[in-house]
Amino acid sequence: MNIAITAHDSKKELMVQFCIAYCGILSHHNLCGTGTTSKLVAEATGLELTRFLSGSQGGDQQIAARVACNEVDLLLFFRDPLTMNPSETDNAQLLRLCDVHNIPVATNIATAEALIHALERGDLDWRNIVNPKR
Ligand code: PGA
Repeated sequence: MNIAITAHDSKKELMVQFCIAYCGILSHHNLCGTGTTSKLVAEATGLELTRFLSGSQGGDQQIAARVACNEVDLLLFFRDPLTMNPSETDNAQLLRLCDVHNIPVATNIATAEALIHALERGDLDWRNIVNPKR
């Protein structure tokens, strides 16, 4: 499966801790993410990630383009709902495209935990049927 990750600044440490905790599961999948989030996760876990631009430079849009091409199976996007973000429009567009293409999305750690366990159990394998390229 292709998993994309991104996190707002105040949630980056949480994303790093999440990826450390589930490194064993994540290591079986293709990972990509926005610039800083990917860098921090790679440094902390040793996981290999395709690193896109920083969110503010268009990294969200790079993920969105892959979602539109059906090249993302799961998005982990730890949002900060309390802080105004200059990438708000890009964020909304990314989430909209995930809804358009029925991509499972976690915008907080509680949902991310549920989805990572679903991934481990094979509950998301229907994505392979939707896109047999995997
Ligand atoms: P970053 O992008 O991982 O490069 O920081 C995400 C964001 O800008 O929120």
